[in-house]
Amino acid sequence: MRRITILGATGSIGQSTLDLIAREPDLFEVVALTGGRNIERLASDARVCGAQIAVTAHDDLLDDLRAALAGSGIEAAAGAEAISEAAARPADWVMSAIVGAAGLPPGLKALEQGATLALANKESLVAAGPLLMETAARHDARILPVDSEHSAVFQALTGESMDAVRRVIITASGGAFRDWPRERLANVTVEQASTHPNWAMGQRITIDSASMFNKALEMIEAREFFDLVPEQIEVLVHPESLVHALVGFCDGALMAHVGPPDMRHAIGYALNWPERRALPVAALDLAAIGTLSFSAPDAGRYPALRLAREVMAKRGLAGAVFNAAKERALDHFIAGRIGFLAMSDVVEEVLTRLCAEKGLVDAAISLDSVTHLDHLSRRCADRVVKEQDR
Ligand code: NAD
Ligand code: MG
Repeated sequence: MRRITILGATGSIGQSTLDLIAREPDLFEVVALTGGRNIERLASDARVCGAQIAVTAHDDLLDDLRAALAGSGIEAAAGAEAISEAAARPADWVMSAIVGAAGLPPGLKALEQGATLALANKESLVAAGPLLMETAARHDARILPVDSEHSAVFQALTGESMDAVRRVIITASGGAFRDWPRERLANVTVEQASTHPNWAMGQRITIDSASMFNKALEMIEAREFFDLVPEQIEVLVHPESLVHALVGFCDGALMAHVGPPDMRHAIGYALNWPERRALPVAALDLAAIGTLSFSAPDAGRYPALRLAREVMAKRGLAGAVFNAAKERALDHFIAGRIGFLAMSDVVEEVLTRLCAEKGLVDAAISLDSVTHLDHLSRRCADRVVKEQDR
């Protein structure tokens, strides 16, 4: 029996993870599930999988969670601290599927107890990549990629030497507005941006896909995961979302990972690694699909990709600034305070201001310094939005 914890169990990735675990209940013992405001789902999933503890991120919902778990013998807890404590409970495999930088502290706790961390929470790697990698190495723990592109790269690298790798190409569907003229993007609504052509995902990553901030985060994620130099990382627009990534080798070969847009593949690969086992994922009929298309991303259309390159060049805590500013700009877009195109303007302005402050982004990376810069960046983003209002 493998002991499993799922951080962000009530979200899109968390639910797909539970789906896989439920298919082979004899193999897994669930330690902890964590969630947010959806107490009903959290409690019912905890009952079905027999978790030891269920934790909501919200202190004000503790009584509701207790009531929903009454008579089950499952412990209830609430708050960010309680989520980190749950992540520190002995487990063999921990799914990190909280959205945003809030996933960093519990991810570190899971690594500190030596668990394998299946990482969907790309934000933690963008904000604090070297800290996560060092923590894993220090505790003899392992981080496995769950983001589909990074899982694809990881699979293409099996049995290969990094010395033979020339480049890594991650694909982007182009999101909801791929074919829209740029003039129309200024007036995009939250609802329009919250629908993805190929993938069913949480709202935040769906909007990030439309703005290409998701791909920008993934470029930095690739750099941190695979220890690449920025010049080795390329982005290719591929509207069908069937080729998830390609690795280019020194002999000219490109190894592509091809599969349907179903996150249960990447989650299942991380769950079964180093084995490969059957998964409930459809087999592709390439003859029926017929054509796969690729094009270079339009740099003018997607400032997020340029910003990612700037962040990779600066390194240090620039990733923490970039991620936090992006999270806050997205909050403001969802709240209707700024337009779709203004998100990248806000992020760029925050990066400019904070990187100009002497020594700020060059400070040593630790949970404290990342948390500090995360707060500063969010406050700075709020100020930039306010100034734009005037
Ligand atoms: P989601 O919004 O569907 O779910 C997020 C989960 O995190 C929920 O359980 C929610 O309750 C919890 N959560 C939100 N804010 C929290 C906070 N402050 N503290 C604690 N818990 C909190 O998101 P998702 O689409 O499942 O994405 C989860 C992560 O996986 C993100 O980092 C995303 O970028 C990444 N990811 C998702 C997909 C996908 O297909 N959905 C693909 C690749 C990567
Ligand atoms: Mg992805």
